[in-house]
Amino acid sequence: MTRHQKRKIDETHVEQGHEELDAASLREHEEFTKVKNIAKIELGRYEIDTWYFSPFPPEYNDCPKLFFCEFCLNFMKRKEQLQRHMKKCDLKHPPGDEIYRSGTLSMFEVDGKKNKVYGQNLCYLAKLFLDHKTLYYDVDLFLFYVLCECDDRGCHMVGYFSKEKHSEESYNLACILTLPPYQRKGYGKFLIAFSYELSKKEGKVGTPERPLSDLGLLSYRGYWTRVLLEILKKHKGNISIKVTPFYLDILFF
Ligand SMILES: [Zn+2]
Repeated sequence: MTRHQKRKIDETHVEQGHEELDAASLREHEEFTKVKNIAKIELGRYEIDTWYFSPFPPEYNDCPKLFFCEFCLNFMKRKEQLQRHMKKCDLKHPPGDEIYRSGTLSMFEVDGKKNKVYGQNLCYLAKLFLDHKTLYYDVDLFLFYVLCECDDRGCHMVGYFSKEKHSEESYNLACILTLPPYQRKGYGKFLIAFSYELSKKEGKVGTPERPLSDLGLLSYRGYWTRVLLEILKKHKGNISIKVTPFYLDILFF
């Protein structure tokens, strides 16, 4: 079953069970399943079909395709506007600090407070591919970790995750997304591994915020299955693993 078909079935399933949802979940469900407003986007050298509603400012709602600057993530209604923008946009990578590089891969840490517009643009873009709510305005309290493939034209975003600067619940990741052209290449698992490495550096135990998106859940399942199999392969003799309910859900359901 393709992901699209599965989503359709999930959506139909929820529609049928409406009477069992309370008012709050119903409102939330309506928010999730609002009619898709933007059908396609252009980002760098890709034209990408979108998956979900995203709350762009109302003046963009009548426009089937949006044109994004792949570096500052400003979005425009017409190709000519983007072409004019690209002549004067001096960014060639996400704003913020490059905190990791390996071969052609780079990770940038973007502070939502210092780069508010970028953070908001990223959230609008991400919501087109995420089935659950993400933040749009309150970006000050978050860091964005943007993974890029770099070449002589610049650093091209492949995905990102966001993280609260100070999480009381020890969340080390809020939203995670690999853009569709870059999916199924292991980038989701790389982003997850990166989020745990940051927690290790902070000397903390971390866990992602729930609920996870449908693809987020698949990535976490793949990541932890691989980690556990690696441990079991190397280990000789008895071993016991303590699993919290959240990770039990990830691994076995
Ligand atoms: Zn730009």
